[in-house]
Amino acid sequence: MKLTIPDYIQSIDPYVPGKPLEALEREYGISDSVKLASNENPLGPSPKAVAAIRDSLATLHRYPDGAGHRLIRKIADVNGVSPSNVVIGNGSDDIIALLVRALVRPGDRVIVPRPSFLMYDITATAAGATVDDVPLRAMAMDLDAMAGRVCADTRLVFVCNPNNPTGTVVSRSDFQRFMDRLPEDVVVVVDEAYIEFARNGDCLKTGQPADLNRPLVTLRTFSKAYGLAGLRVGYGIMPAALAEVLNRVRQPFNVNAVAQAAAAAALDDRDFLEQTVSLVHRGLDDMYAALDRLGLHYFKSEANFFLIDVGRSAEAVFEKMLRQGVIVRSMHAYGFPTFIRINVGLESENRRFVRALESVLQE
Ligand SMILES: *Cc1c(COP(=O)(O)O)cnc(C)c1O
Repeated sequence: MKLTIPDYIQSIDPYVPGKPLEALEREYGISDSVKLASNENPLGPSPKAVAAIRDSLATLHRYPDGAGHRLIRKIADVNGVSPSNVVIGNGSDDIIALLVRALVRPGDRVIVPRPSFLMYDITATAAGATVDDVPLRAMAMDLDAMAGRVCADTRLVFVCNPNNPTGTVVSRSDFQRFMDRLPEDVVVVVDEAYIEFARNGDCLKTGQPADLNRPLVTLRTFSKAYGLAGLRVGYGIMPAALAEVLNRVRQPFNVNAVAQAAAAAALDDRDFLEQTVSLVHRGLDDMYAALDRLGLHYFKSEANFFLIDVGRSAEAVFEKMLRQGVIVRSMHAYGFPTFIRINVGLESENRRFVRALESVLQE
């Protein structure tokens, strides 16, 4: 076959997701394995969302509400903004893609922190943009350096707060200083996929009514704290003029009917959210204590995951952990060749992880 593929497409390394449990069990012939690799909710989906999913099944012969009225109204109410400020997507990945499609022409520039969520780079590169990476400083976003990279061709700047994979946060005052330095035609995207878990009182939280007077987009997702990763729902909060542009370039039914019903119900399930957040906080503290006992070096996090420096090849540790039935994420592709990232699981899963890691590191 003779395909003509643009160089910038050829240059993309595909996104490598966390290994699915089912794949581990099939390949290694084991059962009862544990996945702590994709920052998913260990409690499962919200029971209210599951009930709403069941109720939605009888009308699956109908197209979804393409305008997402009910879900958008709820998201707007919860955040104290207007429905005209909300765009929903097939995961927040979809909103990232819509922003790039609407704002970035080939040859334009996009600023991303590194290491951070790889989809910013992949999506911008796929649009023919030039990606300007800005290394983290002391594991955190270096907003001064990011502002310093802005030039006339810069269209988008991505900020991940808390940052995946380091779990660090941006403070409100640092962010204010950063915004004050940016020209008005640069859109800042703050990805708050893990904001529900942040305990640090200085942590920036955008998506407030006062953020709508400037070119700022807040991304949120139902994939983590709300336990609906498999359904694919996320949203953006942004000035209405920008939301209107995104609505022109999205697919008319980009969020399916089941996902819309489930996400609306999950937003109402405050008990489930509180249970999830407190489970994560307890789990983090328990695992930090266990790793202290093992003398391992780890990085405290404001999200539902954290990094551990295993002091040897993370890829090798990942493989050996698989044999113990525990899926972790090697940070090799993120430029941390001796780090693994794990998310908080159920108490029993956390203990299983610590035992498996101890035995792998003693081999
Ligand atoms: C998991 C994650 C998302 C969420 O992606 P969805 O497409 O909504 O599942 C977004 N940003 C970051 C940083 C993430 O880690």
